[in-house]
Amino acid sequence: MKYQSTRDLSEKKFSAAQIIKQGLADDGGLFVPESIPTLTQDEISALCSMSYPERAATILSKYLSDYTYDELLSDCKTVYSEEGFPGGAAPLKNVKDNVYSLELWHGPTAAFKDMALQIMPRLLSRALTKTGEDRTALILVATSGDTGKAALEGYKDVDKIKIMVFYPVDGVSRVQKLQMATQTGSNVNVCAIKGNFDDAQTGVKVIFSDKDAAEKMNNAGYFFSSANSINWGRLAPQIVYYVSAYCDLLTAGKIKMGDKINVCVPTGNFGNIFAAYLSKLMGLPINKFICASNQNNVLTDFLCTGTYNRNRDFHCTMSPSMDILISSNLERLLYFSAGAEKTAAYMKQLNTEGKYTVDADVLATISENFKGYYADEEKTAATIKDYFKNHAYLSDTHTAVALSCAEQYISETGDKTPMVVASTASPYKFAADVLKSITGTTPTDALKALEILSEISGTEISYPLRNLAERRVRFTNTIEHEDMLSEVFAFVEK
Ligand SMILES: *Cc1c(COP(=O)(O)O)cnc(C)c1O
Repeated sequence: MKYQSTRDLSEKKFSAAQIIKQGLADDGGLFVPESIPTLTQDEISALCSMSYPERAATILSKYLSDYTYDELLSDCKTVYSEEGFPGGAAPLKNVKDNVYSLELWHGPTAAFKDMALQIMPRLLSRALTKTGEDRTALILVATSGDTGKAALEGYKDVDKIKIMVFYPVDGVSRVQKLQMATQTGSNVNVCAIKGNFDDAQTGVKVIFSDKDAAEKMNNAGYFFSSANSINWGRLAPQIVYYVSAYCDLLTAGKIKMGDKINVCVPTGNFGNIFAAYLSKLMGLPINKFICASNQNNVLTDFLCTGTYNRNRDFHCTMSPSMDILISSNLERLLYFSAGAEKTAAYMKQLNTEGKYTVDADVLATISENFKGYYADEEKTAATIKDYFKNHAYLSDTHTAVALSCAEQYISETGDKTPMVVASTASPYKFAADVLKSITGTTPTDALKALEILSEISGTEISYPLRNLAERRVRFTNTIEHEDMLSEVFAFVEK
């Protein structure tokens, strides 16, 4: 299986190991497989009796053909273990009628990013060996909170890799700060910077484009790399849980082989929902994809009108991981719907004008599969309360956006197809807002909110968020953002 760029007409091909190491194509495009592997009904049947690590290795080996099945199975068993994901990696819960919650947050940081960021570092580590790379990869991450922690947990103690995370000192919650400051692992470093998230992100970008820094790193036996969500190594593992959910519905007797399901995904960068679409292209029987947005509803408008326009106000919502105006992975959908030439033109317009409009036939193709809905803050809070009071289900703010959108779709269309809603974070990760939505108030102490939520719901605090205050703080450094590069060198020389 070879890969090419979404913007490349010459169709230059790369191996999976190469693109996982490289991340972004040289022309600025995203890597996509040259063809989509198939998943037959016999194969789906066989997957039903397998464990999650076996399901994952089977699906991944279709895409990562330069990795052996045994390599993939060994890595999947290591990360999707009972220790890492107690109770299973992607359990499916029936929350009401035909609505199922696919809980993707039972991993080491209590958010769905773990599903990919646990396995991706191992895929990268193997890619370095496979491509004959003898330098160490130094992963740099600027984070507004969740991605940084998930990346730290994924990369910690992985061979041939070091990771350094920068976060804005006043730009993350107390829980997030504690999670990062207490990070374990011998190859990790965490540093707060004075400034906001943009300062951190700009600082990392400046380092990535600094030729002198790259040269010095090279001499020290290192090269810079990113943990970005546009890397194929983060996308491929996300296909697995949609197939797994279908198997679980079959096994539970809720559907028969070949029956269709709908999938609803709380969307930011369009990675998670695109992975679901790939499972359909492979052969998984999926009817519609409900693309759920919060108040930053640029995708809802795009799916409705065919115009993507990022020139609009940015809203800070209680589902911050979806506060995004440029959904990078949408480029992959454009490629599969319109081809490389048009995709390159649309992306150029997005870059220069901040907007583009797809051709009518492209919009028609996309609309056959995707329906866009959004939930504002009020609807999101009301949904959390409704599911808690009337269906005994505690959902986080991002999942609530999706539950609301799924309901909007169902009441508009009357579609009775089983609906799988991707649940992307533990309610405890956003405890203050969840509690406020249910009771109308929240304590000023963020850690107290977790305890109260546990008491009123009778559920346990997710294991990564327990006893946070008692863990040993390892990283207390706060620096000026101008000093990020020297901090990086200090880390390497240590
Ligand atoms: C990242 C994230 C999302 C958005 O996923 P995309 O793949 O970027 O669309 C949704 N919910 C949570 C909790 C997240 O962390």
